[in-house]
Amino acid sequence: MPLRKIDKNQYDTLLTPTYGSRLFDEPVPKYKLPESEMPPRAAYDLIHDQLILDGNSKLNLATFVTTWMEPEAKQLMAETFDKNMVDKDEYPQTADIEERCIHILADLWHCPAAQDTIGCSTTGSSEACMLAGMAMKWQWRKRMSQQGKATDKPNLVMGINVQVCWEKFCRYWDIEMRQVPMEQGRYTISPDEAIKLCDENTIGVIGILGSTFTGEYEPIKQLNDALERLNKKTNWEIPIHVDAASGGFIAPFIQPDLVWDFQLPWVKSINASGHKYGLVYPGVGWVIWRDRSDLPEDLIFNVNYLGGQMPTFALNFSRPGSQIIAQYYNFLRLGRDGYQRIQQNCQDICMYLAERIQTMGPFELLSNGTDLPVFTWKMKQSLNFSLFDLTERLRYSGWLLPAYTLPDNLQDTIVVRAVIREGFSRELADLLIADIHRALSHFKHQSDYKATGADDGEGSFHH
Ligand SMILES: *Cc1c(COP(=O)(O)O)cnc(C)c1O
Repeated sequence: MPLRKIDKNQYDTLLTPTYGSRLFDEPVPKYKLPESEMPPRAAYDLIHDQLILDGNSKLNLATFVTTWMEPEAKQLMAETFDKNMVDKDEYPQTADIEERCIHILADLWHCPAAQDTIGCSTTGSSEACMLAGMAMKWQWRKRMSQQGKATDKPNLVMGINVQVCWEKFCRYWDIEMRQVPMEQGRYTISPDEAIKLCDENTIGVIGILGSTFTGEYEPIKQLNDALERLNKKTNWEIPIHVDAASGGFIAPFIQPDLVWDFQLPWVKSINASGHKYGLVYPGVGWVIWRDRSDLPEDLIFNVNYLGGQMPTFALNFSRPGSQIIAQYYNFLRLGRDGYQRIQQNCQDICMYLAERIQTMGPFELLSNGTDLPVFTWKMKQSLNFSLFDLTERLRYSGWLLPAYTLPDNLQDTIVVRAVIREGFSRELADLLIADIHRALSHFKHQSDYKATGADDGEGSFHH
């Protein structure tokens, strides 16, 4: 029987099988708006299929950002996708939930007046850091003006290991950035070196609870004590802002005795990412000030066009409310115990993985997960492969691990970092170890491999 010839343009009806439709046989317009509509199913499948080529978020050990939430949280988020956080007069309950979260965090971080604190939600820690940075700049300017001093040369002191948001802050707001370099074996700020960079134009010092480079905590208490001495001697009032993007949701649960937060008098503000270890899908951060007086009034705008008088301090105006609702879901659902259990599991798995990688032979740890559930390693000596080659090979089986060089002073050090988050099991950790062994065995069987004393037993390197 001859094939029946079909005019494709004629039969694009509801009955056409998805992958039989003309839309799947033609290029999709990439950079131009299509002239006409397509059925929702076709649009869905086209986009869904395109996204398959993205990495698998479970195997993404590069990101700090949440990749797994409970179905009930997802449901709540889906029910509230239509809520704009800024419409506080229209959605008073969403606004109330935001207030609850702010006070919960202030309390968790030992704010002396947690019931009367001030803070806000943001799109993430970057926006939170901008707001905290501005508050420091405004406070410094006020102090200097009162003394009749010049206010045109503000500077901010930090370690070179800061996240890029602080470089952005300094550039966008015209502030001199003063960075303490790293040294061999020290990958975070040194309080002594930081103090040397301070002068009367210093608007503040940044302490990082959980360095992005290695996951290590900076010595916030020592920083506080050093500033206490300096401020006393000079009559300056240089504050600390703690960038606790990750650690703000880790330390209170698994290092409860660590003193890093508002218990320290010079800590005036703290930020954290709700979407990192706050365990919410991306788009939420938080910033809290120790006291209302630490946030200058003239940074707060009052708008009346939504009905009511609404104070706002944010870079964005409209913003999704669903992440804030999901944050409150986690607080209510997990409580202290739930957060503690999840973060402890992450740390246990992290330290297990770090230990296994250390004993493989060619690698040496820079950090092992005792602070954030994050660890980093480097090569002990150069072999016939680099860490870039290793991570590229691991990508064949879907693992996403970043290899990068450290900043100035240690630019020659290449490290790999793994961030362990909720959703990563010990079982997955063992699969990763097996894949690293396979990669090492591959490099060992290349003709340019030089024996280094590392002996490959059953696919593993041991000294
Ligand atoms: C992730 C991170 C940031 C930026 O946070 P976002 O929530 O991604 O905007 C800032 N500082 C530190 C220390 C971080 O780890």
